[in-house]
Amino acid sequence: MSKPSLLILPGDGIGPEVMAEVRKIIDWFGAKGGIEFDVSEDLVGGCAYDKHGTPLTDATMARAQEVDAVLLGAVGGPKYDNLDFSVKPERGLLRLRKEMDLYANLRPAQCFDALADFSSLKKDVVAGLDIMIIRELTSGVYFGEPRGIFKEGNERVGINTQRYTESEIARVARSAFELARKRSNKVCSMEKANVMESGVLWREVVQEVRDAEYPDVELSHMYADAGAMQLTRWPKQFDVIVTDNLFGDLLSDLAAMLTGSLGMLPSASLGAPMANGRPKALYEPVHGSAPDIAGQGKANPIACVLSFAMALRYSFNEGAAADKLEAAVQKVLADGVRTADLLGAEGRSPVSTSEMGDAIVAALDAM
Ligand code: NAD
Repeated sequence: MSKPSLLILPGDGIGPEVMAEVRKIIDWFGAKGGIEFDVSEDLVGGCAYDKHGTPLTDATMARAQEVDAVLLGAVGGPKYDNLDFSVKPERGLLRLRKEMDLYANLRPAQCFDALADFSSLKKDVVAGLDIMIIRELTSGVYFGEPRGIFKEGNERVGINTQRYTESEIARVARSAFELARKRSNKVCSMEKANVMESGVLWREVVQEVRDAEYPDVELSHMYADAGAMQLTRWPKQFDVIVTDNLFGDLLSDLAAMLTGSLGMLPSASLGAPMANGRPKALYEPVHGSAPDIAGQGKANPIACVLSFAMALRYSFNEGAAADKLEAAVQKVLADGVRTADLLGAEGRSPVSTSEMGDAIVAALDAM
């Protein structure tokens, strides 16, 4: 059998630094974990612009469409701030998301016990938290027409349109139910069916998909505003939450911050299944290129490492390997190993990016 293929796009700023640590982990799985990948590496963002005059070449785009999964570091930086909008580093990332049609954005909010004090909520509310928000990413009010600022009589009017087709709702609902089957088999769908027709349709379609195709999965519905309250009151009541583009934008940021540092947050964006059954997939940390600390060995590589763990679980069906990698991260944090962003008031000294990567590899070795 051929090895699963992985395209690595480290990008700009701290992207290459954190990705170097993921490469150590990929090598560990190849040498000792029994999972070998066919890894290729390419440019995206500002570094691609520097070399090719575009943030993403057609060849890189074509490669991204072919591989089993793409793992991206981060793009952007002050050097590129004055470029024309069409060649800004972020356009490379947006092109990947658009042309791969990545409609389901997965944002886990997982609180590692050793970092529970980092949350702005009480420790017992967040300790052990492990929820997943699935945000519809390619439709809804950010894309609906008509949109614009128009003249109406003597004044201007700003218009955006919330628009969802049944098939757009059904496909992201399927992503949520599939994911729930790999977790605790529980989905909560959030919309505003009390005041929005698109919310009424959302609720109906999610329920229909569940009844017809996923009767084994427990489904509940909640208004998105109530969902925001429940997420801060008692987030552990949730497992998988599925919601639209706008509410997902807000709720996923809210849930992510329950858990502390930006350096800890992974994400996945998934599209339709390919011929081999694997979904189109792009994995990336939530953080950006962090120009303020780039090149200094200060970046926390864990968000990128956990993004790779998501790839193991959702693209390569290697749930046990993903569990093992997450447990290694958990162990390193429990041992008190901290990059600078994770230092609290305990008076520890920080480790470097590469020391954190080495510690995770050592923890894998010891398991
Ligand atoms: P950022 O996420 O890069 O940084 C915000 C703050 O968090 C900074 O103080 C940074 O040092 C810190 N930080 C981020 N990741 C960290 C890590 N792994 N370890 C330790 N500290 C970390 O956001 P920003 O400063 O608003 O943006 C910087 C650049 O990144 C901009 O050009 C922006 O457009 C780009 N950006 C890219 C992406 C992406 O590639 N997906 C996302 C957001 C921002």
